[in-house]
Amino acid sequence: MAKGTVYRSGHEWPSARRLRGKFRHAAFVALAGLLPPLLGLPVLSWQVRQAIEAEAAGIHEFVATRIAAIFTHANNAAGEVTSLVGSSCASAGLGLRLGVTAHPFVRSLNLAENGRIYCSSLEGSVDYAEEAEAYADGRLRLMPGNQVTPSRALVVYRQATQSGSVLVGIDGQHLFDVLSLGVSEFTVQVGIKGNWVGPKGVVTAALDGTGEAVASFMESTDYPFAVGVAYDKGRIWQNLATEYWPSWLLLALLGVLSGYAVHRFASRHSSLAAELQRAVEADEFVPFYQPIVLAESGKPAGAEVLVRWMHPSEGLIPPNQFIPLAERTGLIVPMTYRLMEQVKRDLSSQLSRLPARFHIGFNICAAHCKSMELLERCRDFLEPFPPDSVVMFVELTEREAIPATPLTDELFIQLDRIGVQVALDDFGTGNSSLDYLQRFTVNALKIDQSFVAKAGAESLSSHILDIVADLAGRLKLTLIAEGVETAAQRDYLEKLGVDYMQGYLFGRPVPFNNFASVHLDQPAKPIMPKQVESA
Ligand code: C2E
Ligand code: CA
Ligand code: CA
Repeated sequence: MAKGTVYRSGHEWPSARRLRGKFRHAAFVALAGLLPPLLGLPVLSWQVRQAIEAEAAGIHEFVATRIAAIFTHANNAAGEVTSLVGSSCASAGLGLRLGVTAHPFVRSLNLAENGRIYCSSLEGSVDYAEEAEAYADGRLRLMPGNQVTPSRALVVYRQATQSGSVLVGIDGQHLFDVLSLGVSEFTVQVGIKGNWVGPKGVVTAALDGTGEAVASFMESTDYPFAVGVAYDKGRIWQNLATEYWPSWLLLALLGVLSGYAVHRFASRHSSLAAELQRAVEADEFVPFYQPIVLAESGKPAGAEVLVRWMHPSEGLIPPNQFIPLAERTGLIVPMTYRLMEQVKRDLSSQLSRLPARFHIGFNICAAHCKSMELLERCRDFLEPFPPDSVVMFVELTEREAIPATPLTDELFIQLDRIGVQVALDDFGTGNSSLDYLQRFTVNALKIDQSFVAKAGAESLSSHILDIVADLAGRLKLTLIAEGVETAAQRDYLEKLGVDYMQGYLFGRPVPFNNFASVHLDQPAKPIMPKQVESA
């Protein structure tokens, strides 16, 4: 395979991807910019509605008091003539007419007996049906008009007496005047027994028949009538625009700020990703080797490859600062394959110095498991090594779970066939470890350093350590302990039956030359001239 070509063509950022990235960037910025006004809108409109409703309640109070006052006058007028009920119309007529003049708002006073109106201050002797059942609570009636003023709404106040009733006619105009008092933004209506009348004097059957929103509705406690205050729904928007512009200004400012913040963040993210991309191509990622030793003898058995970024200006950057982004952007894939190439070169240059079955571990994540390329890469890696000289391990982490798909199943079956060993990294810290154990042919467990740190101590971690060792024994899995720092930990782990160990006690991750000079057999050196001189 021509070095570099596949991952260059496969992982470079084509312009379509860049375009998509730009579009996504713009969409995020726009969303962040619009978020404050969008969130502010319901809050502000709630405020506007509250303000309108408070105003409506004030109007309501004002109107209801005045209308009740009109009915009180009617009530007083009726009270003064109740004694006339039953008297003949001829004798009662004058009293009724005096009553009308003595009380404001009263247009007529009428007497009824046995369900018939028999005497009226306007017409003298009459004979109309009283229709007592048409009165709300037997006391109030709203009529679109009557025989005297057929086109003008009329309110009748009724006061029952022992033998009949007094009916007080009130000109609807008095009510309409109250309803229209200085409240042009609201429609105020008064309702009596399901009939509603507004300032224009038109009687309707429902309060909200106009399609307006009802801001306030209340039944009077003194008389059987209700007052409803409604407003045009468009008024909320109107008020939002005219009265709340300082709030809008503030929200717009917040929108600009949050859009800018997202723009900065995303630019930094994408420039970091671009920087990572550049570094992959410039081969700035180099493999460091940390020794893995045999637990029994402490002799070197292999190494784990841990990447380092040799940044031209920043110097050596540890993996935790770029691996997460590399994984998210998928750049981890070409990065790992370049490391494999490098490691292949390193190991094949010193093949004679490697202990038999040299164990070499690579860290693999979910992004590598999206195609069969990993299989090709592993085959390619193993190709120059004679059988049993090098054993390749892929260490699976759980930072991002490897999905269970037919492709991943096939990938791991094939890896097993070509002799690649699978180790579960950081075993015991994630929650899919046991799932992986079931799904893949796993060969080894790497006990996470957090458990190793507590080795021998009376703690939950040390119990987990014991259980993992037991599990590995039962499943016949190779057990590797990582993060071994002290001799006490080493002794404890050895007794536990751990097969391999890795940790600062045996060596830190170092470049290949350092690794080879410390951990591999020394090459058979020819006698140097200098040594001859000094001898
Ligand atoms: P990891 O795979 O669990 O690797 C072991 C980490 O523990 C390494 O950190 C190693 O330097 C550190 N370590 C080893 N012995 C000891 C010890 O005795 N004490 C302590 N305190 N730490 C010890 P490093 O090199 O910083 O790597 C961190 C992580 O970054 C790795 O954890 C691995 O998950 C990830 N990583 C490193 N290289 C690669 C890579 O090439 N590819 C991928 N996908 N991930 C990598
Ligand atoms: Ca690892
Ligand atoms: Ca680990």
